[in-house]
Amino acid sequence: MSKLPVIQHLINGQRVAGGTRSQEVFNPATGQAEKRLLLADKHTVEQAIASAHAAYPAWRATPPLKRARVMSKLKVLLEENADRICALVTAEHGKVIGDALGELQRGIENVEYASYAPELLKGEHSKNVGGGVDSWSEFQALGVTAGITPFNFPVMVPLWMWPMAVACGNTFVLKPSERDPSSALLVAELALQAGLPPGVLNVVNGDKEAVDTLLADKRVQAISFVGSTPIAEYIYATGCANGKRVQALGGAKNHAVVMPDADVPNAVSALMGAAYGSCGERCMAIPLVVAVGDATADAVVAGLKVEIAKMKVGPGVDASNDMGPLVTKQHFEKVKAYVDQGVAEGATLVVDGRNVKVPGHEAGYFLGACLFDHVKPGMTIYQEEIFGPVLGVMRVKTLQDAMDLIDAHEYGNGTCIFTRDGEAARYFTDHILVGMVGVNVPLPVPVAYHSFGGWKRSLFGDLSAYGPDAVRFYTKRKTITQRWPSAGVREGSVFSFPSTR
Ligand code: NAD
Repeated sequence: MSKLPVIQHLINGQRVAGGTRSQEVFNPATGQAEKRLLLADKHTVEQAIASAHAAYPAWRATPPLKRARVMSKLKVLLEENADRICALVTAEHGKVIGDALGELQRGIENVEYASYAPELLKGEHSKNVGGGVDSWSEFQALGVTAGITPFNFPVMVPLWMWPMAVACGNTFVLKPSERDPSSALLVAELALQAGLPPGVLNVVNGDKEAVDTLLADKRVQAISFVGSTPIAEYIYATGCANGKRVQALGGAKNHAVVMPDADVPNAVSALMGAAYGSCGERCMAIPLVVAVGDATADAVVAGLKVEIAKMKVGPGVDASNDMGPLVTKQHFEKVKAYVDQGVAEGATLVVDGRNVKVPGHEAGYFLGACLFDHVKPGMTIYQEEIFGPVLGVMRVKTLQDAMDLIDAHEYGNGTCIFTRDGEAARYFTDHILVGMVGVNVPLPVPVAYHSFGGWKRSLFGDLSAYGPDAVRFYTKRKTITQRWPSAGVREGSVFSFPSTR
């Protein structure tokens, strides 16, 4: 084994080894392996679950306000340690440092929202629902909960999950992406520093073996997953079959409609960030533009060409770069192959980023921005999620044509419309079969006090991530009905169904 620094697990408040398998963690900007990650085996994951299980009774009994104070302290620690955390994100994911800071800020907002848990957990009370009978509903913690997260938001997506889970009185086992696990681990250590008792949050690194152990273990009551659709579907089916509550967020292919009356220069600026920000590795990225009318399409393509020529591609540590590398060599090859396939399938490659070179970083996984025109529904580059800096333009005649395309696609995560026509925008937002919709807003990612979730094969389960849905996901409703009959008053039996008739 090489002498790389080893990344361990965090169980019961301690960094521990566990598992005999390991893999390298690369810096995508240099192509160099910089760390070695231990991959948890079944026994190690079971230790983490046991630690969460043991911590649960005391944590459940802790007053919600005390739990919330830990979140308030964590928020401050995250702000104080932002540079450290984001340096880890950039070193392992590759995204530009300013983008990492944006991701962290969205994560911090989830911690902030979790600190309002006492208010959110207040429940519902009704007095005198029948003669002298009072009734109330309360939201009780589930027990041990777990989260499995993707590589593309290594710090934010874990913060969508565990802060609200623990603020509601649960304990948690997190399995971050094996490609960029360090920022989630550092955040978990900051949570300990903020006063989270050992065992309330455990982090296991690993792959399918770790995930399958979480899916099988009876002590795990609920699983939140974010990642690709085939794995989301697997997690949902397996978790549900094992009696767990599951929410599994999957992949995406988000369309932006540009109407003939849109402010094209502003739409082009918005599309640049939405398509190429974070190298297109966002589930809310815009990889498809649906232009209504050829004149609109021509203007959008011309504008994008000009803007792409100005883009700076390079390592994420240099804040002046617009786009960093793709996450791994394997992913780089996959995205490049999609571009080859788009050409082979007959789309017009207007800008070819395949031969981009970043001096001094020849081994990094850099791909320049690619732009296709004349993308058609039957093409693989239309149907599949590429998850790279590849934007395709499609041409349709009417808004309804655009909407029919979007509705027929298997994914329904996000979409947006660029227009100055309020009626068209209202019709679009009302009818489109997509979970998160923007009007002149290219990345309509809900803020922490709303919830995040797509439709169709972008989400399996009934409740979305974070926001009010997270409070419902991480708690069980219990309804209590109570009366206190007067002492000494004899009451007869009632055989009809209790009602106020
Ligand atoms: P992925 O599905 O490969 O991995 C996600 C997690 O699942 C990781 O922790 C990984 O270790 C685990 N995993 C992978 N293969 C597994 C298997 N066979 N069995 C059990 N577990 C397995 O996803 P990724 O490449 O890390 O992330 C990118 C994907 O995530 C994209 O499809 C993107 O759209 C999606 N994503 C969706 C959202 C959303 O909110 N809908 C947000 C972010 C990312």
